[in-house]
Amino acid sequence: MVKQTIQIFARVKPTVRKQQQGIYSVDEDEKLTPSLEIILPRDLADGFVNNKRESYRFKFQRIFDQDAKQETIFENIAKPVAESVLAGYNGTIFAYGQTGSGKTFTITGGAERYSDRGIIPRTLSYIFEQLQKDSSKIYTTHISYLEIYNECGYDLLDPRHEASSLEDLPKVTVLEDPDQNIHLKNLSLHQATTEEEALNLLFLGDTNRMIAETPMNQASTRSHCIFTIHLSSKEPGSATVRHAKLHLVDLAGSERVAKTGVGGQLLTEAKYINLSLHYLEQVIIALSEKHRSHIPYRNSMMTSVLRDSLGGNCMTTMIATLSLEKRNIDESISTCRFAQRVALIKNEAVLNEEIDPRLMIIRLQKEIQELKDELAIVTGEQRTEELTEAEFLQLEKRITSFLEDQDPESKLEVGADMRKIHHCFHYLKKLLNDKKIHGTSIASSEIKDQNSQEPLKEEEYKKLRDILQQRDNEINILVNMLKKEKKKAQDALHFSSMDRSELRCSQSSPFPPGNPEGPRMLPPSAPTQAPDSSTSQYRSSLLHGKTGMREEMSLGRQEAFEIFKRDHADSVTIEDNKQILKQRFSEAKALGESINEARSKIGRLKEEITQRHVQQVALGISENTAVPSTPDLLEEKLRSQLEEEKRRYKAMFTHLKALKVEIEHLQLLMDKAKVKLQKEFEAWWAEEATSLQVNSPAVNSLNHMKPFPQTPESQHERSQLLSNKSSGDWKVPDQGPQVVSCSDVYARKILPSPGPLLHSQEQSSPSTLLEDRIPERPVSSVPLTGDSRTDSDILAFIKARQSILQRTGFQ
Ligand code: ADP
Ligand code: MG
Repeated sequence: MVKQTIQIFARVKPTVRKQQQGIYSVDEDEKLTPSLEIILPRDLADGFVNNKRESYRFKFQRIFDQDAKQETIFENIAKPVAESVLAGYNGTIFAYGQTGSGKTFTITGGAERYSDRGIIPRTLSYIFEQLQKDSSKIYTTHISYLEIYNECGYDLLDPRHEASSLEDLPKVTVLEDPDQNIHLKNLSLHQATTEEEALNLLFLGDTNRMIAETPMNQASTRSHCIFTIHLSSKEPGSATVRHAKLHLVDLAGSERVAKTGVGGQLLTEAKYINLSLHYLEQVIIALSEKHRSHIPYRNSMMTSVLRDSLGGNCMTTMIATLSLEKRNIDESISTCRFAQRVALIKNEAVLNEEIDPRLMIIRLQKEIQELKDELAIVTGEQRTEELTEAEFLQLEKRITSFLEDQDPESKLEVGADMRKIHHCFHYLKKLLNDKKIHGTSIASSEIKDQNSQEPLKEEEYKKLRDILQQRDNEINILVNMLKKEKKKAQDALHFSSMDRSELRCSQSSPFPPGNPEGPRMLPPSAPTQAPDSSTSQYRSSLLHGKTGMREEMSLGRQEAFEIFKRDHADSVTIEDNKQILKQRFSEAKALGESINEARSKIGRLKEEITQRHVQQVALGISENTAVPSTPDLLEEKLRSQLEEEKRRYKAMFTHLKALKVEIEHLQLLMDKAKVKLQKEFEAWWAEEATSLQVNSPAVNSLNHMKPFPQTPESQHERSQLLSNKSSGDWKVPDQGPQVVSCSDVYARKILPSPGPLLHSQEQSSPSTLLEDRIPERPVSSVPLTGDSRTDSDILAFIKARQSILQRTGFQ
């Protein structure tokens, strides 16, 4: 590692006129550090506000006066840096000074004479010369050339020669990796095997830079150019590669104080022309101050790119270019001040060595072997990569006895051998996994035996559903039987369906699919769609959802519902509404057809009018008259017909709209009535099921029941029944104070046991208790509790049959 402060040099540009006397002097007599004294001319000194100093002294590594040759500059400034780059260190040389002070001349060189070649071509020449001389290493050289203007990076080595402005060049962006290394995306690296190739690249970059420059952007004075030589070296046979970078930087003009006013007065407030130079200064200040932990490199692209060069892994050199003419004194002083700060920055350059991964593997393998040998000496046994069969067996034995050991304190000792420890874990994992699989199968079989106090498992639920299905099938058979019987009494019975959907199916929608005239003909809110099946489906599903209507009724229940429906008082209203609805539907249908006709008529009329019009125009052209002299009577007639038809259409459409509203309303009414009916049926159903349970054997004693609640009296009875039910006193109203008894074990078995029954058992007198006689029913023997569907279905048939027989005079 080489610790070094940034080297600062000063170069004074030759003045056009003879050197102005007394402006500056170079003192090189001092043995250690030469100094540059800038003497303020009288008239300028008066203008300085705060101090009346007349001269300023700045120390530099070396000061190159006006007559210093490019060769000297290279030898003294660039060559030492190039040498350290050849040795594997990073290096940076940057020129700093106001515009016109000779930065470009110093870094790149003058365009006229070969002797005016600057640092870049000379360094390239020197490096390639050295590379050729040194046959002990294999070198590779790459070149990149970056221009930064207005915080944007541009690749100057774009070979397309198409750039007419900076924006045409590839844009370069700065990326930072997690290790805070800077990467430049889009900056091309070009290999240069010879000095010539490298110079060509320099030329390409300078040409691009020149072409891209316009008087508008003044790129050369306001942009920074970084020419970088990337050098890699490797000794033959060695795995160590060295990387070094040499940045040769031509900075933007440092002028930052606007010159205004009379008598050379300076503005006290500095105005920065170039923001990134401002940030460079911030970084320099931060670096030169002790105990500053944060260095604001990220503030600008330039400081990000030069991060290593400033206070990092780099040997850095600054050349302060000075134009010491009277008018530039202030800028020169400011440049020198800046240089003084830069001189305080310490860099730590390290060799950038990278080890070839192949060598790394060989090294690590060797290290592993050495460690293994060491371990063998300590443990007294040679350690192989894998455990032996005997070791496996021994370990598993230990694990088994460890697991079987009931002592909670017991330990599994395998020694400090990672192979054994890992094996133990794997073995235990395997055991655990095996147990898990085994465990789940046991658990599932256990569920079968569990009583229903546990929530029903999916499997159990499926089973119950299957049983239910079976029952439904049984019911189907019964229904068929019942139907046969019903046929005998067919004449007296006619089940009319109240389902509106049937009505729907039988009638096609009378509403026209759309408005033939488009939105123009109708008010914007006009409905253009008929109440189609999807909306009514939606509504009915909504109703089902809201009322809890059963989507699927068992056949028995359906039968019972049909009877209930038929005898219900509301059925008249529903039937009436149904008739009206039917009527409206046919009206709407007829209207729809008329509308369709009118629509096609309108279309036809329009077509005729167009045709007629075309004919007339063609006639006009053939007769050479632009406008027909007399109005076309036929066309006028057609037009009035069209208007009439449109009016008719509009009137019919309005009527249809009104019909649609009415139909919608009727449908809603019917839906409502249907829901009401359904709810009442459900209530009746539940009531009957319960009373059947408490009055078993119910099959033979159904006479006491009114088949369907339809009269106010029967409704009163039902409410009484309901109130009795809720009081827990299970008496059947029309049978007097008869105490509930249930001697029919079969009925008890097949009937569900709803909550109130248990409740009544608790409250009734000992004589009514059933427990003594009826063994506790196993829960699994009756699939559904609370839902009396299946068994009650059977009862419903019986009841329905009873009703039918009663009505048809069979009984
Ligand atoms: P900068 O890049 O700092 O704006 P330049 O390098 O373009 O300034 O210099 C401005 C002019 O001065 C150029 O014409 C250049 O050739 C000339 N010049 C600068 N320094 C020297 C020098 N040391 N010897 C001869 N001419 C110089
Ligand atoms: Mg320049």
